Amino acid sequence: MHKQLFEIYEQMGVSKNVLSLSEKVEESLKERFEQIDKVTEYNQMKVLGAMQKNKLAEAHFSPTTGYGYNDIGRETLEKVYADIFHTEAALVRAQITCGTHALYLALSSVLRPGDELISPVGKPYDTMEEIIGIRKSTGSLAEYGVTYKQVELLPDGTFDYEGIKNAISDKTKMMTIQRSKGYLTRPTFSVKQIGELISFIKDINPNIICMVDNCYGEFVDIIEPSDVGADMIVGSLIKNPGGGLAPIGGYICGTKECIDKAYYRLTAPGLGSEVGATLGVNREFFQGLFNAPQVVNGALKGAIFAANLYEALGFECSPNANADRHDIIQAVTFHDPEKVIAFCEGIQYAAPVDSHVTPTPWAMPGYDCDVIMAAGAFVSGASIELSADAPMHEPYTVYFQGGLSYDHARFGIMKSLSRMEEKGLVKIGQID
Ligand SMILES: *Cc1c(COP(=O)(O)O)cnc(C)c1O
Repeated sequence: MHKQLFEIYEQMGVSKNVLSLSEKVEESLKERFEQIDKVTEYNQMKVLGAMQKNKLAEAHFSPTTGYGYNDIGRETLEKVYADIFHTEAALVRAQITCGTHALYLALSSVLRPGDELISPVGKPYDTMEEIIGIRKSTGSLAEYGVTYKQVELLPDGTFDYEGIKNAISDKTKMMTIQRSKGYLTRPTFSVKQIGELISFIKDINPNIICMVDNCYGEFVDIIEPSDVGADMIVGSLIKNPGGGLAPIGGYICGTKECIDKAYYRLTAPGLGSEVGATLGVNREFFQGLFNAPQVVNGALKGAIFAANLYEALGFECSPNANADRHDIIQAVTFHDPEKVIAFCEGIQYAAPVDSHVTPTPWAMPGYDCDVIMAAGAFVSGASIELSADAPMHEPYTVYFQGGLSYDHARFGIMKSLSRMEEKGLVKIGQID
C-alpha cells in the first residue's frame, strides 16, 4: 500500500523530498490528532443532539418561495443553531450574503446614532474598517453617527484591561470582539480568554452588548463564545458551520433581544423573522451543519500539519507548530512575495475545481492592497474548502485554511511546498 500511495502522490505532482518530509512530520502528530478527535466526537454529539431534540424531519427540507411565511425548515434550523450555541435565539439566513454582511447586520441592528462601538482587541478584520468607517465608506456606521474607539492589545498579545476600562464611557453601547486573528499575526483568542474579557467588560457595565466575530472558530473547541457571556456571536456559513455544503449564508446567535433587532434590521421593521424564503437550501444547511464538526477536524489537522512542515523548514508559523488551536487558520510568514505566490499556486493546483488556473495578486473589494487568493472550491470563495490568501505587503504572510477532509488539506500543503521547490525557492532534502 505504501508503494501505491507513493506512486499516486508522485503522479499528482508531489516531489519525493516533500513526501518523505511530510511522512516524518505526520508521524510526530499522532497524539495531537487524537485530542482533536475527542473535541470532534463531543461536537458531533452536540450537533446531532440538537437536531434530534428539535425533531428534524424530511418536511423541513422543502423549499419555500416568495415571502417564505411559515417556513418550518427555516424555523427549525434557527432553533437547532440556538441549541448548539446555547443561546435564546438564532438568525440563520440565506439572505445574509457573507460574513462581513452578518457582522454589519449585527452591529447596525444594535447601534443607534450617538452610540459608541469599541474594539477591545485592536484592529478588526479588514472588511470591518469600511463597515465602521475607519476607512471612509458609503453607508458606514460613522455616517449614521456611531463613533468608534479601538484599544490595542499589549505587546504580548493579551488584553489591555486598564486601557479598556479607560476607553469605556457613557456612550459605549457595544463591543466587537474578533476571535480569530484574521489577516493579522496576533494570536487567535481562546474561548476562555474571550470569557474573561467579557466578564471584565460586564463588571464595568452589564448593559454593554458584547458581540463576538466567531468566523473560523466554530467547533474548534467544545465551548463557544456564547457559552462565556457573549450577547451575540456571528459567522459565515461558507466557513465552519456550513460544513462545506451551505452554498451561501450567515448566522447570528444570541439573546432574544439582540436577535429580534437583527431580524428587523435584516428584513424590515414590522416584518422581522416572519419572512425570508429558503428556496431549497435548508437541506444543505442542515446536512452541512451535521458534517461541520468533521470538516473542522480535517481543517484543524491540516493547519497543524502545515505549521509543523513549514517550521521544520525554518519559516515562522502562527500559531507555531506546538501551540493550542482556537481557529482553523494557519499563517506562514515568508518575507518574500515570490514564496507567497508559489505557495498559493500550489494550493490552487491541489484543488478539485479550477486546478488548471494560476492565481495572481489583484485588487479586491473591501481590502486596501492587492490580495492573492487560491480557492478552487465547489462553493465559490468558500474558505472552509482548501484555500489560501495573502495581502501583498510585508511581512508577506500567507493565511491558509480549510480542506473538507484532512487528506485534502495535507495534499494542498504538500503541493504548496512542491511548487516552491520547483521554482527553486526552498531546498528540502538536507532535513534530518
Ligand atoms: C472571513 C472573516 C470575516 C468576513 O467574512 P466574509 O465572508 O469574507 O465577508 C470577518 N471576520 C473574520 C475574522 C473572518 O475570518
